[in-house]
Amino acid sequence: MSQFKLSNRVEQLNESATLKMAQKARELSSKGIDIINLSLGEPDFDTPDFIKSAAKLALDKGNTKYTPVAGTLALREAISHKFKVENQLLYSSDEIIVSNGAKQCLANLCQALLDDENDEVILLAPYWVSYYEIIKLAGGKPIIVNSKVEENYKPRLSDLQKVLTEKTKMLIFSSPCNPTGTVFNQKDLEAISELLNAFPDVLIVADEIYEHIIFDQKHFSIGSIEGLRSRTATINGFSKAFSMTGWRLGYMGAPKQITQACIKIQGQFTSGAAAFTQQAGIVALQTELAETLKMQDIFKKRRNTLLDEMSKISEWKCNKPEGAFYLLPNVSNSFKKKHNNQVINNSEDLAMYILNEAHVALVSGEAFGAPDCLRISYSVSEEKITEAVKRIKNSLEKLS
Ligand code: PMP
Ligand code: GLU
Repeated sequence: MSQFKLSNRVEQLNESATLKMAQKARELSSKGIDIINLSLGEPDFDTPDFIKSAAKLALDKGNTKYTPVAGTLALREAISHKFKVENQLLYSSDEIIVSNGAKQCLANLCQALLDDENDEVILLAPYWVSYYEIIKLAGGKPIIVNSKVEENYKPRLSDLQKVLTEKTKMLIFSSPCNPTGTVFNQKDLEAISELLNAFPDVLIVADEIYEHIIFDQKHFSIGSIEGLRSRTATINGFSKAFSMTGWRLGYMGAPKQITQACIKIQGQFTSGAAAFTQQAGIVALQTELAETLKMQDIFKKRRNTLLDEMSKISEWKCNKPEGAFYLLPNVSNSFKKKHNNQVINNSEDLAMYILNEAHVALVSGEAFGAPDCLRISYSVSEEKITEAVKRIKNSLEKLS
């Protein structure tokens, strides 16, 4: 068989750690093993019926053709209205691009702004796995600002200040954050924006995909701070708020120059997102958020159950997530322990040990820039959460 020489780009690319673990869990499940899968960040709810009906109607009406690369004008107008009313963000329809998921918005952006490793992108760690790889793939250099579980995974401003230089092109963060559940509130974001005042050419990239999965507080968009709109790209999508992960629909509002560059790139890679899903997206945005709020409430109950259960695992340290559906315990107290002759050296080893021993799939924090941690996605029933923690605790008790 021929052996092809792959590009250096792809040789250096890591597979998505979340998707890889999810696949492993699926394989074990298909062999009949009772796996509790807490690996993938995907709401377990079905897409609300009114959105499915809108897509079916769109198909019946013949919405089956190419759309403009940036998305239909009707959807971009609906997004512009959503940004204005829900986020106090003023993006006109020609400053908005609709893509195949928020992931593609990020990929477009990095392709549009980064050339080589003199182009630095600051990531607030722990960060979502794909940021790092998408930056690398575009040729840029990720620069990491760390944080601690004891400080609710909010990085210190002095650490952020240290890495801001003339080379910084972008700052990317998510709030609520995947994988920590940390919410950067108005005060946090105003403090960050003050630091950025001295670096007017840095593009702020706010990933707000978990905006509606937030507990006991209101989401705040950094782009709504006076003077920042013209230097902020706000990314959002339908995957989490409307449980539409498989529909592949996301969007970005950004200064026109940036949006137009992304449209150029998307026009060569994938064109516009699927026509009938865009129609359903309009209906999702124009309907009351009742279904979304029901999901939010369920996630909050699950968060509380998970934290109660986790308090029984005293060697792991947790923060209290205020949004999204992840918990990122610091598990380093379980390192250097042994089961039979197997040593747990790091969080990859621990994730594999827990998968094999407890039949619970978690993701190592390594790819999130959090090598002392494991990520738990609590997008499953409270019964499963309770059972999973019981199994994890039992497996940890076998380590010595
Ligand atoms: N940003 C974050 C922080 C995510 O967790 C995800 C994963 N859903 C995405 C972006 C990508 O979402 P989408 O399904 O819209 O591509
Ligand atoms: N964003 C989700 C996660 O963090 C989905 C998987 C992915 O797209 O990487 O698990």
